[in-house]
Amino acid sequence: MKPPKFDYFAPDSIESALALLTEHGEDARYLGGGQSLVPMMNLRVAAPSALIDLNGIAALRGIRIDEEDRLHIGAMTRTRQIELDATIARANPLLHEAAPHIAHIQIRNRGTIGGSLAHADPAAELPGVVLVCDAEIKLFGPDGARSVATGDFFKNIFSTALQDGDMITEIVFPAWPSTRRWAFQEISRREGDFAMIGIAAWFDLDDAGRISAAGLAAIGAGDTPLRLSSGETVLIGQAPGEKIFAEAARASLSDLQPGSDIHASAEYRREVGGVLVERTLKAAWERSS
Ligand SMILES: Cc1cc2nc3c(=O)[nH]c(=O)nc-3n(C[C@H](O)[C@H](O)[C@H](O)COP(=O)(O)OP(=O)(O)OC[C@H]3O[C@@H](n4cnc5c(N)ncnc54)[C@H](O)[C@@H]3O)c2cc1C
Repeated sequence: MKPPKFDYFAPDSIESALALLTEHGEDARYLGGGQSLVPMMNLRVAAPSALIDLNGIAALRGIRIDEEDRLHIGAMTRTRQIELDATIARANPLLHEAAPHIAHIQIRNRGTIGGSLAHADPAAELPGVVLVCDAEIKLFGPDGARSVATGDFFKNIFSTALQDGDMITEIVFPAWPSTRRWAFQEISRREGDFAMIGIAAWFDLDDAGRISAAGLAAIGAGDTPLRLSSGETVLIGQAPGEKIFAEAARASLSDLQPGSDIHASAEYRREVGGVLVERTLKAAWERSS
């Protein structure tokens, strides 16, 4: 199928992209990797009057570590780069581990982190990892630059804190302690399919070997990626081990809000979600102990 007619612009700066979007009104859309927007246009689910292509804007690309060891990833960074980049593998191995679960190589070659966050599919991997890492999402819009904490970014299914004209410019991840344990696991029908449910987990240990901080998040378990704070609370102050992981998994069930669709029932997602929390925590622990 072919999309409806649209105007196409390829600006080379953030400011000119915003000016074009403003000029062409609310039906104009930014184009990232096109791996969600273009299929929607071909299926006539979306019919933007103009596409403002972000691919030529160098300021939206790049991966760097700042003086506080935070990882900065430009919005137009491709999923495949996240999967392969050595700096990301060191500075946020959870992101690196989740990336290969996304679709197929051809889609990862084009799809971008900014596009994935803006699209906000509740089963998408990158939003879940960004959420569990407490990353900051940098935006540029009609009122200039601002940033939004990930916890405030995802509002509903395919709905975010982005306002008209807002562009995601960069994602900033807090420094990653070298002793942190982490894992990402998901269940999908076939390799490359969207997750029916997935879990991202990390935890840090204090000098006594007890969990001092923890992050747990689920994808495919609600209208947005979800933070499993009940499970996190159970982990804090405890020594890692199968018993406490099972307890955290049980507590996390109250944070899951799965729905039913053609891929899986809510009951299945809840059941598998609990098992996956336990399994992911165990994988995180076994990775480096
Ligand atoms: C067959 C198939 C399987 C897939 N499987 C998975 C999967 O398993 N997991 C997964 O996570 N994803 C999957 N995807 C989606 C894929 O990862 C997309 O690349 C991603 O969701 C969107 O990124 P994009 O750069 O292609 O965005 P686009 O398609 O270009 O844009 C998506 C939306 O974001 C907006 N946008 C893009 N960039 C910006 C920006 N910088 N600022 C503000 N708005 C912006 C666009 O206007 C549009 O509304 C799949 C896609 C296909 C076609």
